[in-house]
Amino acid sequence: SQLLLQNTEKLSVAGQLAAGIAHEIRNPITAIKGFIQLIRSGLGEREEYFDIMVSEIERIEQILSELLLLAKPQAAKFERKDIKVLLAQVITLLDTQAILNNVEIVTQFQPGFTYISCDENQLKQVFINYIKNAIEAMPRGGRLVIQVKRLGPDQISICFIDQGVGMSEEVLAKLGQPFYTTKENGTGLGFMISKKIIENHSGEVHITSKHQHGTTIEVQLPLHQE
Ligand code: ADP
Ligand code: MG
Repeated sequence: SQLLLQNTEKLSVAGQLAAGIAHEIRNPITAIKGFIQLIRSGLGEREEYFDIMVSEIERIEQILSELLLLAKPQAAKFERKDIKVLLAQVITLLDTQAILNNVEIVTQFQPGFTYISCDENQLKQVFINYIKNAIEAMPRGGRLVIQVKRLGPDQISICFIDQGVGMSEEVLAKLGQPFYTTKENGTGLGFMISKKIIENHSGEVHITSKHQHGTTIEVQLPLHQE
């Protein structure tokens, strides 16, 4: 009965996800279809319609590329990597975006052994998600602190501490549900996928958030066994 329960649960998550995907992709497709019909009938401003169609197609692309990450954990390629190097590379990648949004990224990396066993690209995707979310949570700018510290003899903790809008009880309760977003252009997939990837690395994600004060995302991962 335990197995049956697990299967039922899996089915409902898959069903929930499928319904979400269908809904999220049908909307832009309906819009694109409408504009094609309008253009065909020779009515209206064509140029504007093309711009909208391109942005709707880009939205579908964004959803699909995030969803593909969900399929990949099975094919994860684990290698020994220094988490500090990995984070530094991701921060470099997002530097321009941070500067443009008046966000200062401060790193507090504890010296010492910080090697883990991971799929580099997947883990980078997770960190990109959390950093982007932090930047987006600070529309008037602010500071994002990224801490790396040892957690006991064989665990590492990575914290992303922002001074952003924080999350209400309602947002916290719904976080991680596929397609749940409070953003106009959000996909609402980042959190769910990041959590799956971390769990696939035998890790955990902890969220602490205070509405209007900020959010801390803590990722705990096992250290590489030498
Ligand atoms: P998206 O970023 O596309 O909205 P996510 O799954 O990454 O999707 O996040 C879901 C929601 O969780 C966001 O829309 C936002 O409301 C909330 N959220 C995530 N990270 C933060 C953060 N650092 N501060 C405040 N709210 C956040
Ligand atoms: Mg996000």
